[in-house]
Amino acid sequence: MICVALVILVLSVLRFAVLPHYDRIHNSVLTAGPYPASEKTRTVHHNAFVADLHADSLLWGRDLNKRHKRGQVDLPRLRDGGVDLQVFSVVTKVPESIKYSTYGSDSDNLPLLFVAAWRHPRSWFSPMARAIVQANELKRLTASSSFSLVLHRDDLHGNGIKGLLALEGMQALEGQEQSLLELHTAGYRMMGLTHFFDNEIAGSSFGVDQYGLTDLGRKLIPQMEKLGITIDLAHASTATFSETLTLATKPVVVSHGGVHGTCPGPRNLTDSQLRGLAENGGVIGIGYWKTAVCDASLHGIVTAIRYAIKIAGIDHVGLGSDFDGHVTTPFDTTGLPMLTEALFADGFSKTEVKKVLGGNVLRLLSLNLPK
Ligand SMILES: [Zn+2]
Repeated sequence: MICVALVILVLSVLRFAVLPHYDRIHNSVLTAGPYPASEKTRTVHHNAFVADLHADSLLWGRDLNKRHKRGQVDLPRLRDGGVDLQVFSVVTKVPESIKYSTYGSDSDNLPLLFVAAWRHPRSWFSPMARAIVQANELKRLTASSSFSLVLHRDDLHGNGIKGLLALEGMQALEGQEQSLLELHTAGYRMMGLTHFFDNEIAGSSFGVDQYGLTDLGRKLIPQMEKLGITIDLAHASTATFSETLTLATKPVVVSHGGVHGTCPGPRNLTDSQLRGLAENGGVIGIGYWKTAVCDASLHGIVTAIRYAIKIAGIDHVGLGSDFDGHVTTPFDTTGLPMLTEALFADGFSKTEVKKVLGGNVLRLLSLNLPK
């Protein structure tokens, strides 16, 4: 009896004290809202299709139907930020001690988080089970009438906030080709080939060997395209990046990252990678955190966007916040109208701003998603 009480006590402390505390500290904003923007800008912003290519909000076990004081994204705040489409990326394995270095695939930092969030024991140790559990949690949000899941092209249109499920790293397949279909059935429509380490599909920019596509990876690229799954090259090694662009017949994304031109770093895109992405018809989502833009401020983000446009062109740049991805950002998702205002202040036209805010992502997904 005492044993059971003790287990309940430990699980409760993890769920209601430790996890929220960790979430609050590691997904923080530099300045709390409300964020300033003129009425004129707000009107343009709320009339535009606004899309964010990457947020890890599902990881933390927060009820996203409710407004929270911690973290950077939930449905009420997406509404305030005028967001039409949020890509919910799903993290399934993270190596211990995150720092910018190289990582093997032999450590796993997530079991305690999955225990703390009271998720099914199967998900405590299995990347595939973690992907399924988080997909189901996003699906449960659709019970709210203002939120829907994007599975087909038509789902991109209409009112309310739309969510698209994405995988951050195909280690979730656990090396099994048939898992691709299972994840597609679970609702996944975007997949990052790698995350922090080389996996069975491809090499990562933080991997020990940083190889390109594996045989399985080469086999899966056409299958993903056929299923209407957009390929995400964020975190890809240089070899994976170039090899995938050679094989791809559909536009790819780099869902969250920066550019060497304003912020050199192991996974920020070089000018030649930006040109390759443009040639493919793809889109890079510029991130808002320090290692993506070096200067994690409105100015730093706008500078990176301007540079990416200078090299890749106006049709190939979008937003990729990495909100709730264990990063500190200058604002949470309610601050997006302020970013729109900063783009206008930097001299972008209304047409250009609308492309960056989400027009480019809408075009790409309209091409890639199943009919
Ligand atoms: Zn990431």
